Amino acid sequence: MTTIFSKIIAGELPADIVYQDDLVTAFRDINPQAPTHILIVPNKEIATVNDLAEDDEQVAGRMLLVAKKLAAQEGIAEDGYRLLINCNNHGGQEVYHLHLHLVGGRSLGPMLMRR
Ligand code: AMP
Repeated sequence: MTTIFSKIIAGELPADIVYQDDLVTAFRDINPQAPTHILIVPNKEIATVNDLAEDDEQVAGRMLLVAKKLAAQEGIAEDGYRLLINCNNHGGQEVYHLHLHLVGGRSLGPMLMRR
């Protein structure tokens, strides 16, 4: 296992883990962009959305369902939040271990930066 997120999942690097099961781990982003900013990460290394395989359907679905549960737990479900996955260079991906950003706790404005 090589990515920084794999080390967090394995307990080799400290992180504020808020959820973990057999398929995914969720922890608070080290550089939060909003009052709630949690990353939901597959326990196995999948580099990008492009690398999802047919048999990753369960883990991909789990990521979304865990996001929903954590949004409720954080108390942001009613007001709303944003789920975001960056992919590769144009998507602004920095860590090549698939992760779903759960961001909320304030009004987030337009979805994309204006050019
Ligand atoms: P992305 O640009 O979608 O690849 O997002 C990577 C995210 O990982 C950024 O929001 C970083 O702040 C976050 N991040 C990087 N290292 C850590 C870490 N050790 N613990 C928690 N979050 C991290």
